[in-house]
Amino acid sequence: MSQHVVALDQGTTSSRTIIFDKQGKIKALAQYPFAQIYPQPGWVEHDPMAILYTQIGSFTEAFHSSGLKREDIAAIGITNQRETTIIWDKVSGRPVYNAIVWQCRRTAPLCEEIRQAGYTDMIRAKTGLVIDAYFSGSKIRWILDNVPGARERAERGELLFGTVDSWLIWNLTGGKAHVTDYSNASRTMLFNIHTLSWDEELCELLKIPMCMLPKPVSNSEVYGTMTDKIPGLEELAGTPICGAAGDQQAALLGQGCIYPGEAKNTYGTGCFTMMNTGTKVPVSENGLLSCVAWSINGKTEYCLEGSVFNAGSTVQWMRDELHLIQSASETQALAESVPDNGGVYLVSAFTGLGAPYWDMYARGAMVGITRGTTRAHMVRAGLEGIAYQVKDLIDAMEQDAGAPMQILKVDGGASVNGFLMQFQADILRCPIDRPAMVETTALGAAFLAGLCAGVWKDISDITEIRESQHIFRPKMDAVQAREYCDRWHKAVERARHWE
Ligand code: ADP
Repeated sequence: MSQHVVALDQGTTSSRTIIFDKQGKIKALAQYPFAQIYPQPGWVEHDPMAILYTQIGSFTEAFHSSGLKREDIAAIGITNQRETTIIWDKVSGRPVYNAIVWQCRRTAPLCEEIRQAGYTDMIRAKTGLVIDAYFSGSKIRWILDNVPGARERAERGELLFGTVDSWLIWNLTGGKAHVTDYSNASRTMLFNIHTLSWDEELCELLKIPMCMLPKPVSNSEVYGTMTDKIPGLEELAGTPICGAAGDQQAALLGQGCIYPGEAKNTYGTGCFTMMNTGTKVPVSENGLLSCVAWSINGKTEYCLEGSVFNAGSTVQWMRDELHLIQSASETQALAESVPDNGGVYLVSAFTGLGAPYWDMYARGAMVGITRGTTRAHMVRAGLEGIAYQVKDLIDAMEQDAGAPMQILKVDGGASVNGFLMQFQADILRCPIDRPAMVETTALGAAFLAGLCAGVWKDISDITEIRESQHIFRPKMDAVQAREYCDRWHKAVERARHWE
C-alpha cells in the first residue's frame, strides 16, 4: 500500500513541497522563492503564475529527488498563505489580475466604509471576523471594480475566484475542481462559519456574484486527481488531492492540537496564536478571530486566533538598530547571564498593541531603567516582553473560550530560544511543548490528505507521529510570576495611548 504523502506548502515568500512517510518523517523537501510585487506603498501582489510554477517546480524536484514512484504516493495535501485573492478565466485559466496578497492594505478605505455603515456585528456574527482589508472579500470587490470588463465577465459566469488552495487545486486537476476548504473559506469575510456556506447577504454587500465562488468542501476528502498535463509530473496523474487547510490551521493540526484548550504559537517576526475550541463556535469579546479549524468526516471544529504584532522583530531591532547583539542567537546566553531583568521592562509596541488592548496609538517603551541597568538586562527585557505579550493574548483567548489553555505547542524561528520558552512556561503556568520536527504546517496538510487516503486512520494518530523535542514546565514560584506580570501591566500602561 502507498505510504507517502505529498504536502504542497504555498507560503507568502516561497512555495515548498515536502514528502512525508507514514511515521511523519521527511523523505524529500524542495523550496522555490518567488517575487514580491509592491506597486504602491501598502500594496502587495504576487504573480499567480509564479505561485503555480514555483509550486510545481518544488513538487517536481521533491518527487524526483525522493526516489519514490507513483505507487508510493498515496495522496497530495495543500496548505497555503490565507486570504490572498486570485481571479481567473474559467476557460483559458489566465488570471485577470495579479494575486492581491493578504498583507495588502488597498481596500482599507472600503472596509472603513462598511464599518461606518454599521455592519460590524452582523459580519462578526456570521463570519467570526472583524471587518478588515486582510480578508479576501474586499480584495475580490477591488478587482471587479478596477479591472476593465471584469465585473461583466464575472456576472456572465466567465471568471472564477479562489484563494491559493483553490487556485492550485483547479490547476493541478486540469480545471476539473473549483473548491475551497472551510478553513480557507472562513478567512474570506463571505463565509458563514455556522452553516458552512457562502452568505448571500455578504456577497450582495460586497457586490460579488456568487457564481464565481468555489464550492466549499471539508478539509479531508477527494477534491479531484492530478491531471496528466503537468510537465515533469505526468507520472503522478491520477493521484488524489484530498486534504487542504490554511497555513495556521494546518500548523494547529500538525502540532497535534486536536482537543479544546490546546494551542499553538508560532514565534516568527510576529506571533500567530491559535487555540482549538472544539465543536463550539467561539464568540470573542476581545477582538480575536473565530475560524473553522477543520472539518473531518462531518465533524467541524473551531479555533480562536490572535497575533502579537512584534515578536522576533524586537530581537531584530535590538540587533540592527540598537546593536546590543550581533545575532539573534546571542540573546539566550545574555538573558541568562543575569538573575532577572533588573526591573527593566520593554514593551515592543512599535506598531501599536493588538489583543487584548487594541491600542493603535501605543508605542514602544522601556521602563524601570536605573544606573545599574546593563545590556544583558535590556536584552532580557526584550525577550520577556515577547513572552508577556503572548501571555496577555492567551489570557484573552482563555476568557473567550471559557476554558483554560491546557498546553502550548510552539514553533517558528524564536522558539529555538530556550530562555524565552522557559520564561513563557513560567508566566503562563502551563507546559510548553517544542516539537522535534518543526515543519508543522506541511505535516498538518499531509495529515489531512493521508487521513482521507487511509495512510492514517484517525485524527488522534497525529499525536503519535508528532514528537516532542523538549517540554518546558513552569519552574518559577507562582507568586513571583504573578508579581512580574503585574509589573509588566504597569509598563504596558506607560506605553498606551502615546501617539
Ligand atoms: P518569519 O517566518 O516571520 O520570517 P521565522 O519563523 O523565520 O519568522 O523567525 C525569525 C524570527 O525569529 C526573527 O525575527 C528573529 O529575530 C527571531 N529569532 C531567530 N532566532 C532567534 C533566537 N535564537 N532567539 C530569539 N529570536 C530569534
